[in-house]
Amino acid sequence: MTPMSNVDLAGAVARLRTAGSVVITSHLDPDGDAIGSTLALADLARALGIREVQCLNNDPVPSLYQWLPGASQIETPESAGNTVRDLAVVVDTSVWDRLGAAGDAVRQAREVLVLDHHLADAPIGDRFLVDPGYAASGELVMELHDAAGVDIRGETAEALYVAIATDTGGFRFSNTTPRTHRLAARLVEMGLDVAAISERIFDGMSPTKFELLRRALGRAEFAADGAVVHSAILQEDIQAAQAGPDEVDGLIKYLRNVDSVQVAIMFRELDDTTTKVSMRSRNGFNSAEFLQQFGGGGHALAAGATLALPLEEARGVLLDRVTPIVGETS
Ligand code: 5GP
Ligand code: MN
Repeated sequence: MTPMSNVDLAGAVARLRTAGSVVITSHLDPDGDAIGSTLALADLARALGIREVQCLNNDPVPSLYQWLPGASQIETPESAGNTVRDLAVVVDTSVWDRLGAAGDAVRQAREVLVLDHHLADAPIGDRFLVDPGYAASGELVMELHDAAGVDIRGETAEALYVAIATDTGGFRFSNTTPRTHRLAARLVEMGLDVAAISERIFDGMSPTKFELLRRALGRAEFAADGAVVHSAILQEDIQAAQAGPDEVDGLIKYLRNVDSVQVAIMFRELDDTTTKVSMRSRNGFNSAEFLQQFGGGGHALAAGATLALPLEEARGVLLDRVTPIVGETS
């Protein structure tokens, strides 16, 4: 058991086995790991004989992942009923803040089980298995199938592969381990069309997302002798590009790719007084730790926060804090 856990895989399976009904939820602004892990957990819950299995997320499934089999079963709080479940399973986050309105269903549930791989000081839930050694929550969920003795179905293999591939940036980030490849290899052995999945989640880009990218790159600015790069997406960009709000995700990787950059920051104007910050770093700068002072978190090399400040103020405050530290560590 890791220091951030009070239950192991077998213990987590035991909690699932005793539940008659379950609600499975993940973080707002869901990514491939959040969606893939949710769908795979739903399948596991059904295989374990849980009669009522509900999937819930604060936000709709991003268009990038809507093709995943079963994605349409993920409800949002507006459309979901108000049923109290035996067990709430929270996956890919361990903080209330990140659950949004889906947190109500979690609070009401008789018991809460958290399965996560983010750095966490005080995970929510009665039982929590939080292990940053997993590159993706999908790895954890796959091992949960093994611990339960449940075979992975073909459709679930796709969900798990998407979860693992997205959180490792296509098996390229430093979180990728031999275990990551071993687990993924088992999924590929099941006959997945790896090329088709990669095209969908990595290489394909809608014309509207391309327009956002053009604007983000056009507005990029460097600081700290090129070690910091930052850019912004404004509400007017989303409107002008006729893009979906989820299409901002992933733009930041193009900023981080510049050789001199140690920290890339994307500021997104949510409304006139709220700014979402995304941060990506290279080894030596811990983005999650840095963003804790702004109420954010995530991983060492990929983290985020939401600030109750207009975009330019948020940018000013953050750059003031980040620039001197980057100078130190570079
Ligand atoms: P992104 O920049 O893609 O939204 O998020 C990068 C990583 O940081 C993801 O693992 C995400 O879950 C996490 N993250 C993003 N925003 C927040 C936040 O406001 N609070 C916390 N704790 N984590 C966040
Ligand atoms: Mn994840």
